[in-house]
Amino acid sequence: MPEAHDPQESPAVPPWVALKDDELLAYRICDLGVRIAGSELESRVAQFYEELSARGLAFRPACYLGDEWFSPAGVPAIAIPFYLAHPRLKTLELHQMLEVEGGTPEWCQQLLRHECGHAIDHAYRFSAREDWRAIFGSPETEYAPETYQPRPYSKGFVRHLPNWYAQAHPDEDFAETFAVWMSLTPEEWREHYRGWKALEKLEFVHSLVEQAKNSTPKVKRGRHISDASKLRKTLARYYAERRKLYAEDFPDFYDADLRIIFGNGEPNGESVAQAMRKGRRALVSSIVRWTGQRKYTVDMLVRKLIQRCQQLGFTVPQDRARSSFDLAAYLAAMVTNHLHTGRFKRSV
Ligand SMILES: [Zn+2]
Repeated sequence: MPEAHDPQESPAVPPWVALKDDELLAYRICDLGVRIAGSELESRVAQFYEELSARGLAFRPACYLGDEWFSPAGVPAIAIPFYLAHPRLKTLELHQMLEVEGGTPEWCQQLLRHECGHAIDHAYRFSAREDWRAIFGSPETEYAPETYQPRPYSKGFVRHLPNWYAQAHPDEDFAETFAVWMSLTPEEWREHYRGWKALEKLEFVHSLVEQAKNSTPKVKRGRHISDASKLRKTLARYYAERRKLYAEDFPDFYDADLRIIFGNGEPNGESVAQAMRKGRRALVSSIVRWTGQRKYTVDMLVRKLIQRCQQLGFTVPQDRARSSFDLAAYLAAMVTNHLHTGRFKRSV
């Protein structure tokens, strides 16, 4: 006799799995029927909970599927982007945004630990304490993770997520410090951050957690905003919005700079635009690796540059290697300057 089908259980194969991207994009997020249970996220969340218990914490933030990585304000919960709950949706995310944030086991754990920092603060209201504010600053500081200006060599902050994200805001500083506290043993982080001012923050987080171990959270639950099962927008609209958000408004290229790099091209040589199209993926990956900027954003920049080189009719110079190095250094500098002078869109 066949077992009764549990209506709560997702069907093994959702009806949209075999669809092409443009057909899948017509689906509303709420109609995808994705859930953490039964997906690869189930074991990742389980591993994350095990890590908490290994650190002696009974605190377990609720994890649910949302539209991006975040912890809802004032709520001890973690939203995980819904596209991580199915390989087909991860592929769509990759096609649309060129990378899948938290798509590997390590990256996923890193983000879970970071969001856990926010969630435990929401649960115990640590950031309302005077001593918290004395160490991390006022959480009422204007929240602008897009526009912070980091000091890359500062030893006052831990390093966990890229781009010195701890420096974005006192709340991010705390979340990042908590993430480091969680990912290493006390012996490890004391050794790793020896002589750093950030060590005071780690010791403070350590003492907060020790207190939390023996007390119940002040806030136990709250509204799970942007719950994927209730998001009525289509995937097409979801991606149109995100692509618009990530498409940085880089300044126009300085043609004078491009002339320095490509001005002495070989007459009748290969067009720079064509050569760059061939090398685009490698160029974008290198810039992303060393700047930590979003891949979609860097790809847009490189596409724009290819277009400009085409308009200017550059051909590849004789010293090809040198012009390639120049180009990569130029682009990395442009992305970094841009990041430090204002418009930096990343928030977790
Ligand atoms: Zn954060």
